[in-house]
Amino acid sequence: MKRWLVLIALAVAGLLLLRNEIAMMLFRQVIAKQVSTDIVAEHAAGVHVASCGSGTPLPDLTLAGGCTAVIAAGRLFVFDVGEGAPETLARMGLRPARIEAVFLTHFHSDHVAGLGALALQRNLGEGVSTALPVYGADGVAQVTRGFDAAFAQDHAYRLAHHHTLTTPPQALQLDPRAFAPPTEGYFPVVYERDGVSIRAFSVPHGPVKPAVGYRLEHDGMRVVISGDTMSSTNLVAAADDADLLIHEALAPRMVAEIEKAARAAGQETLATVMHDIPNYHATPVQAAEAARAAGVRALAFTHMIPPLPRRLLEGPFLEGVSQVYDGPVYVLRDGTLLSLDAGAAPEERSLL
Ligand SMILES: [Zn+2]
Ligand SMILES: [Zn+2]
Repeated sequence: MKRWLVLIALAVAGLLLLRNEIAMMLFRQVIAKQVSTDIVAEHAAGVHVASCGSGTPLPDLTLAGGCTAVIAAGRLFVFDVGEGAPETLARMGLRPARIEAVFLTHFHSDHVAGLGALALQRNLGEGVSTALPVYGADGVAQVTRGFDAAFAQDHAYRLAHHHTLTTPPQALQLDPRAFAPPTEGYFPVVYERDGVSIRAFSVPHGPVKPAVGYRLEHDGMRVVISGDTMSSTNLVAAADDADLLIHEALAPRMVAEIEKAARAAGQETLATVMHDIPNYHATPVQAAEAARAAGVRALAFTHMIPPLPRRLLEGPFLEGVSQVYDGPVYVLRDGTLLSLDAGAAPEERSLL
């Protein structure tokens, strides 16, 4: 018996002595997997939707700011780039160097704050030689010029430090592609290449103007991204017969609780913001009504207000949704990947 105890003690001591080497061995394995993972290449067929940021300006450490990525035709299309979204994309194995273009829904900070970091992350990949195209309604150039100016010194340092690389200076910059805000009922094509088409449509998010949503079509599949919007008949028309509608939502009953708590704590500014925001977002039930009216085959919520750090909170958030919409409903978390299937509900898994 005593001999066993001595052997166990020696084994534990040995493990303690080797713990740094064991940690390094695990580290090597994780890094080798991380740098070789290329989710876009692995999903070259079909249409796949990834949540690279399901958050809002309300703090939640598990959620990056607004960001939805679509993999189609072996390319990566990114809709909005909130704070933390570029790093989330990279952690998900969605190499930023694979990005074909970014599409901004509007210029609220929680949808654009990650643009500078995205340009940097993109340049850690191979084969990047041109500025990153950033599509958006009129006003997008003011945003991209601002990021380029703010990051100009950073770019100069990095190009000087890594002078053996042949990265051209423009590869670190943003290339604005502005379009006129579409009129009601009109969904112009803003991008078309190799069987992927992307249309823009206007949504009501006043006083934020312009504000648009996007519809991506590829391989007979149709994905619609609402952007930030109130209940919108124009969105219903644009989302007609979509395979997947990704919709923002704000739960008024839960936001009213934050307002009440903020007022009780003497936080009048927060209370006022909570009081004001329900008038430019849709409720979960309104999003479900839009999904039903448009005849979409699946509905996914993103940009949930408030954030839902526990699954338990999805119950009150989704209250009333199943009464108006009987298709599959998803609450997107950062890292979620939905693979579209023409004959069935999208398949869900997490990349984190
Ligand atoms: Zn937002
Ligand atoms: Zn907004």
